[in-house]
Amino acid sequence: MKRLVMKFGGTSVGSAERISRVAELVKRFAAPETVVVTSAMSGVTDRLVEIAERVAQGIEEEQIHEFIAYMREKHISVVQEVARQEEVEELRGEIERLLNELEKILIGISYVGELTPRSLDYVLSFGERLAAPLLSAALRRQGINSRWYTGYEAGIVTDSNFGKASPLMEITEERVRQVIEPRLKDSIPVVTGFIAGNKEGRITTLGRGGSDYTAAILGAVLDADEIWIWTDVDGILTTDPRLVKEARVIEVLSYIEAMELAYFGAKVLHPKTIEPAMEKGIPVRVRNTFNPNCEGTLIVSEQEKSSDIVKAISVMKDVALLNISGVGMIGLPGVASRVFTALAQQKVNILMISQGSSEANISIVVERADVERAVDALQEEFLGANIVKDVQYNEDVAIIAVVGAGMRGTRGVAARVFTAVANAGVNVLMIAQGSSEVNISFVVADEDAARAARALHQEFITKRPTP
Ligand code: ASP
Ligand code: MG
Repeated sequence: MKRLVMKFGGTSVGSAERISRVAELVKRFAAPETVVVTSAMSGVTDRLVEIAERVAQGIEEEQIHEFIAYMREKHISVVQEVARQEEVEELRGEIERLLNELEKILIGISYVGELTPRSLDYVLSFGERLAAPLLSAALRRQGINSRWYTGYEAGIVTDSNFGKASPLMEITEERVRQVIEPRLKDSIPVVTGFIAGNKEGRITTLGRGGSDYTAAILGAVLDADEIWIWTDVDGILTTDPRLVKEARVIEVLSYIEAMELAYFGAKVLHPKTIEPAMEKGIPVRVRNTFNPNCEGTLIVSEQEKSSDIVKAISVMKDVALLNISGVGMIGLPGVASRVFTALAQQKVNILMISQGSSEANISIVVERADVERAVDALQEEFLGANIVKDVQYNEDVAIIAVVGAGMRGTRGVAARVFTAVANAGVNVLMIAQGSSEVNISFVVADEDAARAARALHQEFITKRPTP
């Protein structure tokens, strides 16, 4: 491997000891050319969101000072331990300057009494901007030549969609190549994850959890051989270990499988974040900072040969099943579209949908938190019109998703799935399989979810010998 992008999440850099450990990991695993991306220290971004909101509502200046004191404690206290002795003072000065700037902007927001997405992004940027100098200093202490860059300085330019900006890939590619590429020969740059800038140089953020996205963008434009996401779990697991004790780390997954799993709540990676890597076919590896000897999960574009039909069983709780029924729906075009529109207008996200060919009912699964809004929206849309007779809902359900690219074109998988579930004495309330055939999802009662997951794990995964 020649070129590697490694990203470290918030818990990985959550204390002086952890930052030092990360520096050791970088030294141990670096490729001849390596870029490091860092998140804010754990908890910091949440605290920044919270203080920005409180400040805009008008709090005492004293409370801003208290917050800055917390940030100072969190970041200044680690300097002594992570940096080389001769750099301690300068690094403290750098952190202090950033804290000063943060204090000023918070006071500014308190005067204006308004928090715009643009000023929020500015406030949030301090999480990563405070973490990056610390990690870069820790690398120098390991004898690695390093300096740090904000995402924008590194060359990542986005649109002006503050709070959820998207990279402008062409100019990003050009700039990153200009700024970062020449540095790779004799140093390891540290780049702040999550934050970038628009064309005018205003700070933007890529959306919460966006440092993975930064790593994927850099990996893509630099044509990295791999992108490593260092986090605090061993990788992507075959199922939820709290429900099934035989759960284990999946060694290799394809992008499509990883996306299916992410949608179904295995929130190790957000699908959008790996998109730039996916487009270029760059493998992404998820590894554990706290267990570096475990090789983690490798996500690749196309898995060559795999004997696995099913890779994972994911369980999504806190969902609700809605049933819309009425003979008036039969043969009437546009009902499904009205359902979608009514729900979209209420910002209800649809997780699953199915309609039988009798057309007399449509079943939909939504997040439990959305159920009331969903029912109201549907009743308003349909009830008066004598099309729908009834909108029923059941809040005590869970989705089970069986995921694996090996299911595509393999006969009898659905039969094995539902036989296993039936043998476990579990009743299935609704079924859907997308035509990609990478996932079969179904809904069961909440109380049956663990039993169904265990039966499926046993049928498809545990039975198989460990590779
Ligand atoms: N610090 C940012 C967040 O917490 C970005 C990240 O951690 O990936 O959302
Ligand atoms: Mg974070």
